[in-house]
Amino acid sequence: MPVDVVFFGPPGSGKGTQASRLASTLGIPQISTGDLLRSHVARGTELGKIAKPIMDSGALVPDDLVIRMLKERVEEPDATGGALFDGFPRTVPQAAALDKLLQEEGRAVGVVLFIDVSDPVIVERLVRRSLLEGRTDDTPETVTSRLRVFREKTEPLAELYRQRNLFHRVDGDRPVEAVAADVLAAVNHAAGRILA
Ligand code: ADP
Repeated sequence: MPVDVVFFGPPGSGKGTQASRLASTLGIPQISTGDLLRSHVARGTELGKIAKPIMDSGALVPDDLVIRMLKERVEEPDATGGALFDGFPRTVPQAAALDKLLQEEGRAVGVVLFIDVSDPVIVERLVRRSLLEGRTDDTPETVTSRLRVFREKTEPLAELYRQRNLFHRVDGDRPVEAVAADVLAAVNHAAGRILA
């Protein structure tokens, strides 16, 4: 029985770290649209050329482009047994596209994890990350605009998934191990329902 998990949270919430741990625990691929887009940028593809300035500004890459990219990734053989979606969906149309895509394969989102971190903590973490990793979208100005985009466009998805009883909030302002334990507890809780 495939298990499909959605991870979301503000930039700098640590969702990437948690997503990668959970994906290996569950034995399913982690599909990060941020990583996929960065790979397009690095390879200089058409999509990469369009995405680069948008990502650097902190805005979202247009839905149709991201949805097409995600669909191709989900159709790869390693994702037939379920996947962990990291950073997708980020908008209401993306959430609808994910539902449709999974439905076509007889699958459905089984659990949604929201890694919650307050704005001041995020800004501090991201500015530190920019010094360590040199990501071009981690400048203080971009961080503020990514955060605003998150609150406006992505956070409303919480309500949508809450209504469907899929939503689990995890406090991300704690050590990685503590967050990971809560993530696993939420998935186990949902697993009873998924496997029932
Ligand atoms: P973070 O969540 O830490 O900001 P990501 O690596 O998930 O970083 O995303 C980096 C950037 O890639 C985003 O700011 C956005 O420009 C683009 N991006 C990633 N995923 C999506 C998506 N699902 N829809 C639109 N744009 C996206």
